[in-house]
Amino acid sequence: MNLILMGLPGAGKGTQAEKIVEKYHIPHISTGDMFRQAVKDETELGLKAKSYMDKGELVPDEVTIGIVRERLSKEDCNNGFLLDGFPRTVPQAESLEQILTDLNKKLDYCINIHVNKEILMERLTGRRICKSCGSTYHLVFNPPAKENVCDKCGGELYQRADDNAETVENRLDVNLKQQQPLLDFYKDKGYLVTVDGQQHIDQVFQDVDALLSKLK
Ligand SMILES: [Zn+2]
Repeated sequence: MNLILMGLPGAGKGTQAEKIVEKYHIPHISTGDMFRQAVKDETELGLKAKSYMDKGELVPDEVTIGIVRERLSKEDCNNGFLLDGFPRTVPQAESLEQILTDLNKKLDYCINIHVNKEILMERLTGRRICKSCGSTYHLVFNPPAKENVCDKCGGELYQRADDNAETVENRLDVNLKQQQPLLDFYKDKGYLVTVDGQQHIDQVFQDVDALLSKLK
């Protein structure tokens, strides 16, 4: 099964990716891991990518796409793969189509874990961290027994600057804007399936699993 997994920050994409690869034994290919591996292996493309990253520049598409091509050509992808974080743009999606054609593979699904923006805001802004011991809490999902006090050490809890409402909303808006053309692209191609990510984690996976079991 050849899959792309999409979802905004806070949608639970990472959790679902773990569950999918555990059950179906396909490699989880995230862009970050793929870059790190290519750099570590010192492949020609890996070194090229590193030269851009070292300068703090964006890695150009041709390099990224080359790394994706190398990764998808590996033997462990023979029974499938789960792509996460790639493609990010329609031109990348078009290149991926070409790569898959060249490798005689076909995409099965682009799975989008959908969660409303309001709920994502609640999930992403609720995190609190203990100043003393670093324990993390969530106002809704894992609240401390006493407001603003760490259960473990009695320390004071704080919110990271990255987790404040304005920063989170900006991040979501940027992601939403980036994601929509891709969702349209895969919808037009007939690959897009949307899973309701607002349910319990286990129910989300049951829905994903129901889709995937049809592929076997
Ligand atoms: Zn603490």
